Amino acid sequence: MTPDFDLMHKATQYSVIEGTTVHCSLCSHRCTIREGGHGICGVRLNREGILYAATYGKISAEAIDPIEKKPLFHYLPKTVSYSLGSVGCNFHCRHCQNWHISAASCDDFALRDLSPDEGVSRALANGCASIAWTYNEPTIWHEYTSDMGEIARKRGLGTVYVTNGYITEEALTSLSPMLEAFRVDIKAFSDRFYRKICGAHLQPVLDATLRAHELGMHIETVTLVIPGLNDSPEETDGLIRWTFDTLGPDTPMHFTAFHPDYKMTDRPATPVKLLEKICDRAREIGMRYVYMGNVFSHRYEHTYCPDCGELLIERAGYSVHFRQLDGTQCAGCGAKIPIRRHVG
Ligand code: SF4
Repeated sequence: MTPDFDLMHKATQYSVIEGTTVHCSLCSHRCTIREGGHGICGVRLNREGILYAATYGKISAEAIDPIEKKPLFHYLPKTVSYSLGSVGCNFHCRHCQNWHISAASCDDFALRDLSPDEGVSRALANGCASIAWTYNEPTIWHEYTSDMGEIARKRGLGTVYVTNGYITEEALTSLSPMLEAFRVDIKAFSDRFYRKICGAHLQPVLDATLRAHELGMHIETVTLVIPGLNDSPEETDGLIRWTFDTLGPDTPMHFTAFHPDYKMTDRPATPVKLLEKICDRAREIGMRYVYMGNVFSHRYEHTYCPDCGELLIERAGYSVHFRQLDGTQCAGCGAKIPIRRHVG
């Protein structure tokens, strides 16, 4: 179907480099797009030298999710987040768990219209404490998330990107007045993995994560551990040490279990013992808040006081109980716990 450009939202974060050829500077692919073409993400289209954001205001999925599902454990815990997704992605991961929307284009999917204003009103009407752009990559939804985020912050909501972190410094900086939480996947600690499995590079993800940290965003990292692909002790140690040195020991790190999916069905599910080994190692290196995901009922789902060991937050799946947590302090020893309980 031919897109109706008259109805389409114009993109930001690009420049015309020659005639009708444009250069997109939204994500680290930095695509050069000729007239009539689109970027790697499939949703930014060049028509006569103008770049359009084809998915502005177009949603594929909407849900009220526990914030713990993102997963975010230290940002507005025990609240629900108004969660939105569209279509497209700037990565092409072989193991994508949301491939039905990330690999889709606007024509493949019945997308629903939702204005930024309407989205914020729906979040508030449903008792949500935040809006999360998730399910597919929010970076490529830049203009829409920026507009909605600005309204959301004015109306007292938190804002969350669940992202692969492949955003340029300039795009991330432009988001910073409205974006509170940057829940970033660090998929591996090797460029080879990023090139082979995702069609991208590692360094821009690390750079963006550090930049988000410098901009004062709340950061939690997630690494899906895939047996034989990103689980060597050298690699996981490298990731943990980088996080410790760059983002600091208080950064929550999540290590989650892989299940065969999409184009990656030749790998086994991640054994819990392997995740335990990685989590134990992260604690040894000095990370203070280490979590395990996609497992049922494990001690690494809970938050403990790193000073006295008190159980602060007990979790079982998405069921969350505050135990010895008094505001943002350990009720046992008074240690300050880096948890954002309120927006702003
Ligand atoms: S968002 Fe990234 S993938 Fe999409 S057009 Fe821009 S640079 Fe290319």
